[in-house]
Amino acid sequence: MDHERLAALDKAHVWHPFTWQPEWEQRDPLIVAAAEGCELIDTRGRRYLDGIGSLWVGLHGHRHPAVDRAVREQLDRVAHSTLLGQASPPSIELAARLAELSPAGLSRTFYSDSGSTAVEVALKMAFQAKQQLGQSRRTRFAALRHAYHGDTIGSVSVGGIDLFHAVYRPLLFDALHLDCPSFREDEEALADRAVAAIRAEGASLAALVVEPLVQGAAGMRMHSPAFLRPVLEAAREVGAYVILDEVATGFGRTGSLFAAEQLDFEPDFLCLGKALTNGYLPLAATLTTEAVYRAFGAERAHTFFHGHTYTGNALACAAALASLELIDEERTLERVAAIGAELRGLLAELERELPEVYQVRQTGLMVGVELRRPDGSPYNYNYRMGDRVCMAAREFGVVLRPLGDVIVLMPPPAMSLPQVRALVMGVKASIRAIFH
Ligand code: PMP
Repeated sequence: MDHERLAALDKAHVWHPFTWQPEWEQRDPLIVAAAEGCELIDTRGRRYLDGIGSLWVGLHGHRHPAVDRAVREQLDRVAHSTLLGQASPPSIELAARLAELSPAGLSRTFYSDSGSTAVEVALKMAFQAKQQLGQSRRTRFAALRHAYHGDTIGSVSVGGIDLFHAVYRPLLFDALHLDCPSFREDEEALADRAVAAIRAEGASLAALVVEPLVQGAAGMRMHSPAFLRPVLEAAREVGAYVILDEVATGFGRTGSLFAAEQLDFEPDFLCLGKALTNGYLPLAATLTTEAVYRAFGAERAHTFFHGHTYTGNALACAAALASLELIDEERTLERVAAIGAELRGLLAELERELPEVYQVRQTGLMVGVELRRPDGSPYNYNYRMGDRVCMAAREFGVVLRPLGDVIVLMPPPAMSLPQVRALVMGVKASIRAIFH
């Protein structure tokens, strides 16, 4: 089918996520037909650098031979069988591997299909565990302001982005929202306030949930371990569980395999998704401890009555196993360090040269380039500066997706240094094209 026909059918039938459809319907859509490494290829044969790793999932690049092979080999055995009352080799091997790789104590994996469900599972497990341990007053959750943990009602309840979440407020459960820094500012004062709030509410809390080090969807807001560690410790001291949502930060993106390592903190729950399968197939995991696991064992009525049809899908687990193996083979963490350093230099230049670049925030390969007026005030929301820059970037062969007026860069660690330079050149040219 040619591009024009596909575009017409898309506009007639597909409702795109996080997309204002009237605007979408006016535009010529980018329709990705193929990919190679860190490049996407559209229906007209044009190539683009995948500057956001296909929405934060890419590690080793598209069509990596080892991940392709693992999925094909699994396809020759079985694509899917249920984990309800059955087991399967790839889901067993992956859970064992995740227990080895993750912070100490997280020996149990519960599978689901998206980051949202990984968080939803952690919230429900934490709540139910506390109930079954006789701590029935622990019915609340604490979370950071500006947080994004997914789009299901539970994960929206602990979210804090008004634009996305406010309309659902009547449906949401009440959570304690803690102020947090956006870029290493006021960290000590904000940590003291968060700790005080946790202590005040301590007896009612089931768990604290956070995106460690980087609040991605909030626009790449960042804080240091010095802010977060006392907050996590306070939650533990008052008897609440700690849930780390590493759906975005996991698998090397912040410089270590998990951000938890930089915090030197062992959480009660770790939520993983996105890059788990190198972006091949939807798979998520909620890891937890033996202590939480045992809270479900005293009687049959204490079962965790939760599970999705595709839980532990064999193809997805095979892709994840292959991708995890590649993290060593491809020296992914070394690549994150090298690309991160290159990006830091290039982005410092961008910040110096372009008055519209208000701030560059970077942790590992998670980058936010915030655009504001040269006087430091934000642009009117309706001007859609971030969106305009990202649309212009297509003309320079770069695919980006903004968060408001923050241009997000999330290059896969597989990207070569020349590609990284081309990516930043593309961003620079796009900002110039819009503003000059
Ligand atoms: N948690 C975090 C930290 C995320 O960044 C996201 C997705 N951007 C999610 C949860 C939700 O993941 P999904 O879109 O796979 O449901």
